[in-house]
Amino acid sequence: MDFLKYFDNIISFFKLPIWKYLTYGIVFVLAVVWLSTVYWTYRDARLRNTSAIFWTLVVLVLNYLGLIIYLIVRPPEFIEDVVERDLEIRRMEMLLAASIHRCPTCGREVKDDFVICPNCRKKLKKQCIQCEKPLNLDWKVCPYCRTEQ
Ligand SMILES: [Zn+2]
Ligand SMILES: [Zn+2]
Repeated sequence: MDFLKYFDNIISFFKLPIWKYLTYGIVFVLAVVWLSTVYWTYRDARLRNTSAIFWTLVVLVLNYLGLIIYLIVRPPEFIEDVVERDLEIRRMEMLLAASIHRCPTCGREVKDDFVICPNCRKKLKKQCIQCEKPLNLDWKVCPYCRTEQ
């Protein structure tokens, strides 16, 4: 008798409306998590410049399985990082190009302290009359020994 009453209590416990609401709550939370996952995939795919619509659909249909597949095959870096790195490389190349001196006549690479071009004999610098350091052609005074040219 006692046992039956106990069993009855359990049954009525599970018939409480709270279970229904709890189920709704769980379904709601799962739906929110699922939708955020879909949105996150869309945004992440956009940032990585990969086909966002395709991956959003994959996650929408396959859910977490789709998300796992996406996490495995997605490009490893953000598009901004790629652009930034390309800009940095271009900046370095420009700096490098600026540090290379070329003969204005024949275009051959010359060193900064060359007085004439070894290829076409174009006069690139003049020598200081006092210390013989290479000076730019338009310099009026030697910056090394202060001698007027
Ligand atoms: Zn030259
Ligand atoms: Zn000098």
